[in-house]
Amino acid sequence: MTRRDPPLALLAEVTHRCPLQCPYCSNPVALERAAGELGTDDWCRVIAEAADLGVMQIHFSGGEPLARKDLETMVEQAAKCGLYSNLITSAVLLTEERMNRLRDLGLDHVQISFQDSAAASGDRIGGYRGGHAKKLGAARLVRAAGLPLTLNLVVHRQNLDNLEAMLGMAEALDAHRVEVAHVQYYGWAYENRAALLPNRAQLDRATATVEAARERLKGRVVIDYVVPDYYARRPKACMGGWGRRFLNVSPSGKVLPCHAAETITDLEFESVTARSLAEIWESSPAFERFRGTEWMPEPCRSCDRRELDWGGCRCQAFAITGDAAQTDPACGLSPHHDLMLSLAARESGRGPPDFVYRNYGNIPETPATARPEVLLPDGSE
Ligand code: SF4
Ligand code: SF4
Repeated sequence: MTRRDPPLALLAEVTHRCPLQCPYCSNPVALERAAGELGTDDWCRVIAEAADLGVMQIHFSGGEPLARKDLETMVEQAAKCGLYSNLITSAVLLTEERMNRLRDLGLDHVQISFQDSAAASGDRIGGYRGGHAKKLGAARLVRAAGLPLTLNLVVHRQNLDNLEAMLGMAEALDAHRVEVAHVQYYGWAYENRAALLPNRAQLDRATATVEAARERLKGRVVIDYVVPDYYARRPKACMGGWGRRFLNVSPSGKVLPCHAAETITDLEFESVTARSLAEIWESSPAFERFRGTEWMPEPCRSCDRRELDWGGCRCQAFAITGDAAQTDPACGLSPHHDLMLSLAARESGRGPPDFVYRNYGNIPETPATARPEVLLPDGSE
């Protein structure tokens, strides 16, 4: 029995290995190698501890969870522990045999990411030739196995104009739900921000496209859509608030309040190899640091939205200001909001640079998030 409300869901990042190289990947730029990953027994223990703690859902993610040959054992353990399980996958490694085996072991749901509506662009963005065709085949395998399917459409300036075709693809694949997710600028996405950030006109067209599709597909496909932070007036309640609803276990066993939390370089995260999940959830200093409202600076401290959005995203505050304890600059009331708008105008207003593809050979020595943003008054760097 724990004092705190239990987390609702566990994001199990079972590996950082992935055949794709998406330039917006939310994994930390310091990718974990296979030798540092938790083994099967540790993951099965973590899954049991999560269920004991009160977690209801487990999302197997990565990297690419299918890169682990023991995924089936973990899915089976989740079912035994009574957890609803979801596989978040690029799907290029999914075979019919594995799909049916995962279903038979208790997998409840599959979420497949698509990089674009057409093969040439999708393969270029994901850095994996032939990937788009494999994803189409895998989506059909999911539906043939009788499992519900969600499509993750990560959108940015290089595919946003194809959104209507991407939504048509979701309908043709008999998806139940579509998450149209604007890139979140942490990890690799932060390195590639100028290549990915859309301009306001592009964003407005996409929002109109989503509204029309919601009307057309009502009762058949649910479409989730959130305006990107760089053009928002108020921040999202990131993860439903730091340490309130979700926890994340990294491939090496670090327990994080969100998948991007390791970008905050002055926090230390405890590992499931040293303490139980319940102990970490209850009292880990990293979870305690931004829980509730006590930590908040002004203007959050006296704002009537402080228990709605919980001050927004700590990782974004750190990335833009160098201080995770600042109000999220996505908020129009933040003293750093103008800086964020200037960055958006500057980076979406010039030709996109080449992608820095996410792979083990491209890991930057100093991540861009370790270099707080500075703009001169004329908008130059
Ligand atoms: S975003 Fe792309 S590179 Fe990152 S884990 Fe997902 S499929 Fe792999
Ligand atoms: S000031 Fe803080 S609590 Fe108020 S809306 Fe902005 S981020 Fe949310």
